[in-house]
Amino acid sequence: MNIARRGVVLDTSCVVCHRLFEDGGHLFFRCKGVKPLWRGLQIEDIRMQLMECQGPIHVLECILKLPYEKKMMIVALLWAWWSERNKTNHNESRLSTDEFIFLIKRSTDEWLRFSKPPTKSSTTSTPRWTCPSAEIIKINTDGAFLEETRDRFSYIEAGFVVPIFRSVKVGSSIS
Ligand SMILES: [Zn+2]
Repeated sequence: MNIARRGVVLDTSCVVCHRLFEDGGHLFFRCKGVKPLWRGLQIEDIRMQLMECQGPIHVLECILKLPYEKKMMIVALLWAWWSERNKTNHNESRLSTDEFIFLIKRSTDEWLRFSKPPTKSSTTSTPRWTCPSAEIIKINTDGAFLEETRDRFSYIEAGFVVPIFRSVKVGSSIS
């Protein structure tokens, strides 16, 4: 749009349906190519809600307020639909509606499995690092070298944890 305002002649019609101006609102919510995907995923009500938003920031705010599973599904849909749009733009074959819906459900399931928000029980069971006792000196090292320059030292990183021994006389304080 900004380029067009500068006098450069561009075809700004939707690359999927070739009918209307391709802005985000059209491409993601109104295009005849994307509507069956929202319907097939049974989230048509959310499409209608997002279509009423006033600009991209409002769309993002609405998506972020959705329940976690729905939010992940919408993100998967928008991401995959943008890929489909680009395939069309490069004359590559697109997924069928059924293939697309399968991809979104699979992506959503995978993302949910790996990015579930931490529950209270999982956070309390995570072991935490603690300082070793006073009589222990702990030295961590890490290093690497290139196979072909085995004799050359590439880098080494070391960390030292040395407990501080303190003796406090009665009547004095540690500063
Ligand atoms: Zn379109």
